[in-house]
Amino acid sequence: MKKPAIFVDRDGTLIEEVNYLSRVEDLRIFPFTGAALKLLKANGFLIIVVTNQSGIAREVYTEAAMQTVHDQIQAELGGAIDGFYFCPHLPDAGCSCRKPSLGMIEAARSDFDIEMERSWVVGDKDLDVNLGKRAGTGTVMVMTGYGLKHKPFLEFDPDIFAEDLGQAAEQIVGTTSPASVTLAP
Ligand SMILES: [Mg+2]
Ligand SMILES: [Zn+2]
Repeated sequence: MKKPAIFVDRDGTLIEEVNYLSRVEDLRIFPFTGAALKLLKANGFLIIVVTNQSGIAREVYTEAAMQTVHDQIQAELGGAIDGFYFCPHLPDAGCSCRKPSLGMIEAARSDFDIEMERSWVVGDKDLDVNLGKRAGTGTVMVMTGYGLKHKPFLEFDPDIFAEDLGQAAEQIVGTTSPASVTLAP
């Protein structure tokens, strides 16, 4: 059965922004993240993490170190995440997966039967908003992480500005479809 998805950014959205996070000791999941994901899942959404991790190509940390962090996130969130997708490449590598390119969303769509019309991208950067615009999903920008810093320089406004993932989840479940937000006065 088709399900809508929340394509959620990792750093600054699910967890505190840490420059090139690589050690589990530095991992801080936001206090609202667990409840937000629970609410979204209860409303039928898949939770798909999409994260740019150029620290791997920069050799700041290994893919295995990132995987350890992802395992810890999954453990602390009680297995709430349906899939993790990451881009390990440099920004100028010309890959098809680095946000705002669609590669990670396409990979998730080949693994899950996703109803894109009711899906959302949630993140703290302009590239997250642009990803959602390109994918044709709803878009939410959170003010945690780089949110406040990036807000004045957006190429496109998101459908929803939210304080954090908790508020984002409440607004998403209170909305019948992304289009109804866009058309609201
Ligand atoms: Mg981020
Ligand atoms: Zn890539």
